[in-house]
Amino acid sequence: MLTTIIYRSHICESVSDQVLQEMVNAANTKNGDAEVTGILLFNGTHFFQLLEGPEENVTAIYRHICRDNRHYNVVELLRDYAPSRRFGKAGMELFDLRDYDRDAVLQTVLDKGTSKYQLIYDDRALQFFQTFVEDWEKENYFEIPSGDSWEFISDEKAVKPEHSLADISPTCSFAFQPIIDPFSRQVVAMEALIRTPEGAPANIWFEGLSGDEMYEADLKSKSVAFAMASALQLGRQSLSINLLPMTLVKIPDAVNFLLSAIKANGLVPEQIIVEFTESEVISQLEEFTHGVKLLKGAGIRVAIDHFGAGFAGLLLLAQFQPDRIKINRDLIKDVHKSGSRQAIIQAIIKCCTSLEIAVSAVGVEKAEEWMWLESAGISQFQGYLFARPDFAAIPAVSWPEKRDDI
Ligand code: C2E
Ligand code: MN
Repeated sequence: MLTTIIYRSHICESVSDQVLQEMVNAANTKNGDAEVTGILLFNGTHFFQLLEGPEENVTAIYRHICRDNRHYNVVELLRDYAPSRRFGKAGMELFDLRDYDRDAVLQTVLDKGTSKYQLIYDDRALQFFQTFVEDWEKENYFEIPSGDSWEFISDEKAVKPEHSLADISPTCSFAFQPIIDPFSRQVVAMEALIRTPEGAPANIWFEGLSGDEMYEADLKSKSVAFAMASALQLGRQSLSINLLPMTLVKIPDAVNFLLSAIKANGLVPEQIIVEFTESEVISQLEEFTHGVKLLKGAGIRVAIDHFGAGFAGLLLLAQFQPDRIKINRDLIKDVHKSGSRQAIIQAIIKCCTSLEIAVSAVGVEKAEEWMWLESAGISQFQGYLFARPDFAAIPAVSWPEKRDDI
């Protein structure tokens, strides 16, 4: 099927006009053979290219383009299907926007089009052209240095228990993973992630449970999390725990249970953050918001986890505003390369800024993801890049340090 890809990128300083022209000539031959046509715009700093052709060929050429080291910060803006080519002339013309009068430049670009209907109505691809030519989105082009301009150095401050924590509970255990602010070099909170007693992951632990039994076990497990956090000498560090929203609905006394367990383990409500994981529909929103009210009244902070990925999302946010929102790896993965992920995350940040809700990013694995998110205004991160969850222990954090030699 006729596929369209649009991307933008940043030219490397070392590329001269001559190299640029050679690059376009080489691309022309290659694209011609693959029946890929399109147009390449250049404004002196950024490229903007539209590629059209058979899906497999467009995808292969785009993959090749992403690896080209004459440009960087390649961001895919659109991937779509169309009935006919918009720019069907053989080859790939380089169109230097600087050579044209500002008022006429968009029309001149569109005049290059070969589409049957000039200026296809409401065509997203052509809207992207306009935005690029008119520089409307420029403040959102974050220039991210390459990932290897940072090194990650462990602070070796891991906390292993003095004696085994296995006797705290025969039914469950926890792994701990820090949420950090890399620039202020602070651990913002520690998250307790449920495990089987043998250390198998959360989904395996939940597998054995059904219906109401699951909510009961979810709640009870939290006293194990508190006991382990105490044994690992968490002190007054913030501790995040996860709860299914329906646990708060199905067990009316849940908040009191939590409060007694917090106290019994020498912790205080103000250091606890309850993260609600959106893995199911909250069917009784009224009861849920009542439970949240009780938590807040007791001094416990509340977060929405996996924001946007599950069932609730915007409606839940309209109903009650948590202290923080956690954006999950599903949205964060390769955000530095994806225009759609960038737009969604920027919208979440904007919304949360208006509501004074803190935003954190979970599942950060690549330095580029972290740098993009940091440029977008997020300052709290959790992910393998900084620390993997450690079973029945608190892991050391790998803090980013700028390399001097780059
Ligand atoms: P979550 O609360 O978003 O926790 C983060 C999950 O992402 C953890 O998986 C963690 O191991 C994983 N993770 C952290 N950094 C990275 C990364 O850089 N890359 C990747 N690929 N993964 C990363 P885990 O421990 O398997 O937990 C999965 C989910 O299970 C949690 O997601 C949470 O929603 C739920 N969960 C965990 N503990 C509990 C609990 O006690 N009660 C309830 N109701 N749910 C829990
Ligand atoms: Mn969580």
